[in-house]
Amino acid sequence: MILENVLGAIGNTPLVGLNRVVEGLRAQVAVKLEFINPGGSIKDRMALHIVRKAIEEGKLKPSTTVVEVTSGNTGTSLAMLGAIYDFKVVLVVSPKVSQEKIGTMRAFGAEVVVVDGTFKEQRAAALEIGRKHGDFFYVDQDNNPYNAEAHYLTTGPEIWEQTGGRVTHWVAGIGTGGTLMGTCRFLKEKNPAVKCIGVDPKGSIIYPTFKGMKDIRYEKYEIEGIGSDIIPGQLDFDLIDDMIQVDDATSFEMARRLAMEEGIFAGGSSGSNVHAALRVAERLDENGLVVTVIPDSGCKYVSKLFKGKQ
Ligand code: PMP
Repeated sequence: MILENVLGAIGNTPLVGLNRVVEGLRAQVAVKLEFINPGGSIKDRMALHIVRKAIEEGKLKPSTTVVEVTSGNTGTSLAMLGAIYDFKVVLVVSPKVSQEKIGTMRAFGAEVVVVDGTFKEQRAAALEIGRKHGDFFYVDQDNNPYNAEAHYLTTGPEIWEQTGGRVTHWVAGIGTGGTLMGTCRFLKEKNPAVKCIGVDPKGSIIYPTFKGMKDIRYEKYEIEGIGSDIIPGQLDFDLIDDMIQVDDATSFEMARRLAMEEGIFAGGSSGSNVHAALRVAERLDENGLVVTVIPDSGCKYVSKLFKGKQ
């Protein structure tokens, strides 16, 4: 079969069991390889759904400029879609975004603007650029309901099918919360006993807010794609059973172990997810099946995370 274009290659990613990093655990841990998507990350799923809906609803035409604040993966997916549907894409990123991701967005033809500041300042900059372009569409992945819906329609059903309904725990890092929430909603509908666990980096305000802590202050960290200095509109704390906090060093170490011990070349937030999934699995017996996600590839962070053996 010949696909009409590269968008037909989005989704239906493999679910792979972990073998060596799980040594000593009784429960099974499996990861969904989202770097297989043509834009190289899980964000292809929601960018495709949001763009298709915006076109359908008349909000996006070839004359429209698409603008968004991104840690690079949503930006790459939007830039790829822009190349196919022929619309302009302008992306605002923070200075910590890897050069590999910035280069990829530019390779697809997008304009990338680096803005050092809070999320609100970055959003203001994106909207200002949009207004200069006249007709613009602000994706707003933190609040756009089609983000989580993409995972409700694709990621959730795939995991349910691939595990034959045996999944007991769903673990995912929270950037916008789309991956965690959409998949969680689907899995809990199928089996209300499935537990959904969010992953958040130290420094982000999401974990301390969920835990009801006082005097919460945002502090910078290096992991890309998860955590925030705002609470994304997408998040429904009532559906989340628990959250696990991770740090840069543990996450990056796990990303390196995934490469060296599992042959899975994954990014920093994948390290966060797997570290958290192992902590969940430690408490379970052989009936436990913990599923998490590898949002993107280590290729996007070679210069930042992976030095390899010298
Ligand atoms: N990891 C990486 C590398 C990402 O780019 C993102 C998206 N920001 C996530 C995890 C989290 O996904 P979501 O926005 O669906 O919460």
